[in-house]
Amino acid sequence: MTHAPTVVDANGAHIPAIGLGTWPMKDDECRIAVATALDLGYRHIDTAAMYGNEDAVGDGVRASSVDRDDVFVTTKVWPDNIRDGDLQRSAEASLERLGLDTVDLLLIHWPNREVSVRECIGALCDAKKRGLTRHIGISNFTTTLIDEALAVTSEPLVCNQVEYHPNLNQGALLKRCRQNGLAVVSYCPLGRGDVGGTMDEAVVKDIATTHGKTPGQIVLRWHVQQPGVVAVPKSANPERIAQNLAVFDFALTEDEMAQLSALAKPDGRVVTNIAFAPDWD
Ligand code: NAP
Repeated sequence: MTHAPTVVDANGAHIPAIGLGTWPMKDDECRIAVATALDLGYRHIDTAAMYGNEDAVGDGVRASSVDRDDVFVTTKVWPDNIRDGDLQRSAEASLERLGLDTVDLLLIHWPNREVSVRECIGALCDAKKRGLTRHIGISNFTTTLIDEALAVTSEPLVCNQVEYHPNLNQGALLKRCRQNGLAVVSYCPLGRGDVGGTMDEAVVKDIATTHGKTPGQIVLRWHVQQPGVVAVPKSANPERIAQNLAVFDFALTEDEMAQLSALAKPDGRVVTNIAFAPDWD
């Protein structure tokens, strides 16, 4: 049986295929979840300036048994701060809150219609050149915006972090990212579990029964079994944190992968409340 690699190579970055999402955890809940995840084997943590938890994420890394250099830490710059100068200051403030010298990946959290792609990508490249981050990437960029970013960047872009789960078809975006060596990092990879959706689908439950796995593990396996896809499920629950990483000891058949992909629906997007969202593909 072949298993997906546990690390996704993307334009020079080696991104662990499962990371811990940290929104909306804060303070002790966040610190404990991060330390628990790292002790259980996670090596990738996803945060953002906007989450208000970078201090707790940094504390969690230090509270764990894992060396900082063995952890892939991602943070993001909120779109209000992506002008040249503002972006670099936001990255410096993130490092201060995290208590880290550099992050592994710095993302533009969302595009901003009032800031050109040339300006924000230029600032992002400068942040990398200044050593504020080892790698750079984008989040919530459409295929058109990816093309614009690729046309102006002087540094490799290693990922586009976007909403992705079986209820949302991201075929066009996946294709564009793969063509250019970017990983797709799936946010809301479980379709935001607490509101039902993906994990409640009968197909997911049936496949879970077949493999003796939980519905969440089936959905996460579907992500990491796709080339170039990384997922950052959030959980504050130690059992589910452990479950969400235990997806590398089994494989879905081609038919099961296709059945899960066929769950995509036009209104499958979960994050629909962002007024400044781009015109999605
Ligand atoms: P998600 O990971 O799809 O779902 C999280 C929800 O699922 C939580 O309520 C969690 O509850 C529950 N859950 C986790 N594992 C489960 C399991 N195995 N079985 C059943 N329920 C489970 O959604 P998300 O938190 O919105 O997205 C993940 C991460 O993506 C965020 O934390 C954040 O880091 C990132 N994100 C990025 C953006 C962006 O714009 N770039 C946008 C949204 C999110 P418990 O905690 O109780 O387990």
